[in-house]
Amino acid sequence: MNDTERPLNFIEHIIEEDLKNGFSNEALRFRFPPEPNGYLHIGHASSICLNFGLGLRYNAPVNLRFDDTNPAKEEQEFVDAIKRDVEWLGYKWDTERYASDYFQQLYDWAVALIKAGKAYVDSQTSEEMANQKGTPTEPGTESPYRNRSVEENLSLFEAMKAGDFEEGQHVLRAKIDMTSSNMLMRDPIMYRVLHKAHHRTNTDWCIYPMYDWTHGESDYIEQVSHSLCTLEFAMHRELYDWFLDQVVDQNKIRPKQREFARRNLSHTVVSKRKLAKLVAEGVVTGWDDPRMPTISGLRRRGYSPESIRNFADTIGIAKRDNLIDVSLLEFQVRDHLNKIAPRVMGVLDPLKVVITNYPEDKEEWITAENNPGDEGAGNREVPFSRELYIEKADFREAANKKFFRLKLGHEVRLKNGYIIKAESCTKDTDGNITEVQCTYDPKSKSGSGTEESLRKVKGTLHWVSIKHAITAEVRLYDRLFTDESPDTHKDKDFMDFINPDSLEVITGYLEPSLKTAKIGDQVQFQRMGYFCVDTDTTPEKLIFNRTVGLRDSWAKIEQKN
Ligand code: ATP
Ligand code: MG
Repeated sequence: MNDTERPLNFIEHIIEEDLKNGFSNEALRFRFPPEPNGYLHIGHASSICLNFGLGLRYNAPVNLRFDDTNPAKEEQEFVDAIKRDVEWLGYKWDTERYASDYFQQLYDWAVALIKAGKAYVDSQTSEEMANQKGTPTEPGTESPYRNRSVEENLSLFEAMKAGDFEEGQHVLRAKIDMTSSNMLMRDPIMYRVLHKAHHRTNTDWCIYPMYDWTHGESDYIEQVSHSLCTLEFAMHRELYDWFLDQVVDQNKIRPKQREFARRNLSHTVVSKRKLAKLVAEGVVTGWDDPRMPTISGLRRRGYSPESIRNFADTIGIAKRDNLIDVSLLEFQVRDHLNKIAPRVMGVLDPLKVVITNYPEDKEEWITAENNPGDEGAGNREVPFSRELYIEKADFREAANKKFFRLKLGHEVRLKNGYIIKAESCTKDTDGNITEVQCTYDPKSKSGSGTEESLRKVKGTLHWVSIKHAITAEVRLYDRLFTDESPDTHKDKDFMDFINPDSLEVITGYLEPSLKTAKIGDQVQFQRMGYFCVDTDTTPEKLIFNRTVGLRDSWAKIEQKN
């Protein structure tokens, strides 16, 4: 769907309303504000597509802002990964900003709040403060330190900044209302002491501002017009506005916070903290493990930026949290790869076929289309010889009429090649079929124009010539979690639902054209699915990831159950 054709989403309606009421289009500005405490995931893609999509629609700048106020969890590695992922998704930010660039300004504003009698240093323990919070139906209790003098507050706050105190000894709190029905308005903490080096400011600071104090003020500093965040911040909006009230200059843009629903994807978790646990505990090989719902994992798995953007566009944005079935994401990648991926042949579970009437020393190179749906994709040559591999599942000694693959006494066409007929088969002592002996019709070669080549047979199989085949490690992935929504169970941890069979490693036998495949190349193994060359590939060892199968096999399994 063309972006300008689809109906407006509710955020766009809010903006249209603002423009109608006189807000200038030139003053529109957005931001995408990740905390650099992990890699971006598919949930973030929704937020990225929303914010950068608005930038494109209204020709407005979008900042990439790192919300880096918690030195304990943040690292440069994550900043670099986030930038790489946003760029890869195809978006350009206007300026790269860091909340940590505003530490001095935030500090100065906090001092002004103290002077205005609107902030104070609390010296209680965190338990004491928690005990005074009250409940949503009962008011809180004021801290005994709430009425400290401005002078005392100023000197304590300065000493906090100077590093005179231990972590937890003092905090700075906004003096708002301990009886507010919104618990977040009950004198929220603005600063805490943390003796930790920050990835950018190093040890310049040992007090760090809290999210609520930082976010709105950062939006204001950057003159963001619409600050879009997920629903869990809806209750924070009152505090966001209160903090802005303390600093806003009437002649400047006052940012507006609006909330949209978080996107959750089935059979996985979209939370950096939980994904970090999978990495730390070795459940996956890293943030970019192809089973991860991270942007870098999806990229390595073979997803294209288009397919992720199309996914985000199709699910749109919502006002209520909900679970999106992962098959919708898979549909998008299949749809895109169907258009762009060259077709090749690879056998993943081989069964030897010997064509008994094909000369032993003969080989021929057969012309095959790279993409029947795309004339510009060109052709390649595939070798054919007396001994081939087909998939084990493509042969049965006997089967009913609905089995269009190879069975004794019947014919199939070898893709791009000849019609063959199964004459007999050989078994090992356990009764497993080890070889099928066939004959071929020498006049039936595809595209040769003979009467025999036009003869219709029901089944077409992919194959590789054994003596020409190259081998590759092939990694087949399945859902990382067996449960549709692993982190929503009251009595169980999401780690209890890890699918023990999410990775299967096999050897594939591939047509030799793949010898030159490079990391990141995407192909369709005909009849088997879409695959891409993994980053672990070396000149000695070719490794493929299965991006997605050709059909949604899970839908069938779930229907059956
Ligand atoms: P996580 O729990 O994974 O760390 P977060 O919300 O803490 O998520 P941030 O780095 O703070 O992560 O998020 C940056 C932006 O992306 C925020 O505006 C946030 O609301 C948005 N976002 C995060 N997760 C999702 C999601 N699942 N769906 C939609 N937007 C999301
Ligand atoms: Mg966060």
